[in-house]
Amino acid sequence: MDAMERVDCIIIGAGVVGLAIARKLAVQGREVVLLEAEDRIGTGISSRNSEVIHAGIYYPQGSLKARLCVAGNRALYAYCADHQVDHRRCGKLIVATDASQVEALRHLQARASANGVDLQWLGAEEALRLEPQLHCTAALHSPSTGIIDSHGLMRALCLEAETAGASVVLKSPVLGGRSTSQGLEVRVGGSEPMTLLARHVFNAAGLGALGVAHAIEGARPSSLPPLPRRFAKGNYFSLTGAAPFSRLVYPIPPLGALGVHLTLDLAGQARFGPDVEWIDREEYGVDPHRADSFYAEVRKYWPGLPDGSLQPAYAGIRPKLHGPGEPMPDFLIQREADHGVPGLVNLLGIESPGLTACLALAEEVAG
Ligand SMILES: Cc1cc2nc3c(=O)[nH]c(=O)nc-3n(C[C@H](O)[C@H](O)[C@H](O)COP(=O)(O)OP(=O)(O)OC[C@H]3O[C@@H](n4cnc5c(N)ncnc54)[C@H](O)[C@@H]3O)c2cc1C
Repeated sequence: MDAMERVDCIIIGAGVVGLAIARKLAVQGREVVLLEAEDRIGTGISSRNSEVIHAGIYYPQGSLKARLCVAGNRALYAYCADHQVDHRRCGKLIVATDASQVEALRHLQARASANGVDLQWLGAEEALRLEPQLHCTAALHSPSTGIIDSHGLMRALCLEAETAGASVVLKSPVLGGRSTSQGLEVRVGGSEPMTLLARHVFNAAGLGALGVAHAIEGARPSSLPPLPRRFAKGNYFSLTGAAPFSRLVYPIPPLGALGVHLTLDLAGQARFGPDVEWIDREEYGVDPHRADSFYAEVRKYWPGLPDGSLQPAYAGIRPKLHGPGEPMPDFLIQREADHGVPGLVNLLGIESPGLTACLALAEEVAG
């Protein structure tokens, strides 16, 4: 690419969100260049999560998370069916493990219903009939929750975008940009540095999105949340041996996360996580000593968890816009009216349910 080449649309970041936006714009016939810092697509948050297709239960009514999760859930199942992306609508149970949690479960049911999500209330015996190894006082059954092969999804989105003419340019970190009368200048580093001029720029850089937003000159400084000083890491442990349940099992969510839950992969293997570990720098090692707190958490709903059966698996980092102890904010989608830069859309704080919502997010910003 020549220096100062002009393009219609630039997308920054080839995670599930950037790929969904690239695919959406490319199939509309727009000229699309997708810039990715790494040497492969999908090495960021999109490959370090629970791979759950959420129903839209937890989020406040009217929030972007609620609306885009519910719409994204439907869109994702339809996309998976049309594009042969491996997935399973296995359902999930959210469990109250003692009487003191039943009110919180009722509250979740009301919230889900306000979001248009149907949940079925189960007494302990009914829940036990579905999952004989479960311990609970009551449970909510979510039939529209499922699991997905996130890499398969990203490959399908990328293939469709490229087939429709999008260029996916790897090893191309965006360093910054500025607004000019000609369009938005985007500075790209890597082994072949270049500057591109674009009419529309979609910043979907995941953990890097806030840094990119700060590096674009001309944005009103007060419009941007500060760069985070701490990262909310989530660790996972995998279970040795057969999975005890055929549905996903979630506890009542603690503040700022969904709780250490049981998810299944498409091969039927069980894993537990993510917990919340606030750290000072980006790193993904899983400390085996954290298993102690996992045993305690998981045994509240699965007393039969055998000693020594949890193995460190992997970790992910949530792109949070807030710090420890604060409630979860909504997705933050900023357009010109918000930050003052024509043509720029920032997608910030796209934590869970960002995988579920990816197609709805693309529709929201590029539809
Ligand atoms: C522990 C955990 C569990 C989760 N579980 C679920 C779940 O079960 N279901 C669900 O729906 N959601 C879940 N999520 C949320 C979901 O994974 C994310 O919302 C989603 O993957 C975000 O995708 P993304 O494309 O925005 O980010 P990413 O996948 O991180 O993609 C961003 C891309 O931008 C690139 N990049 C960064 N900086 C630059 C730059 N300067 N220039 C160019 N490229 C750059 C990165 O290399 C990366 O490839 C979970 C998240 C976490 C952390």
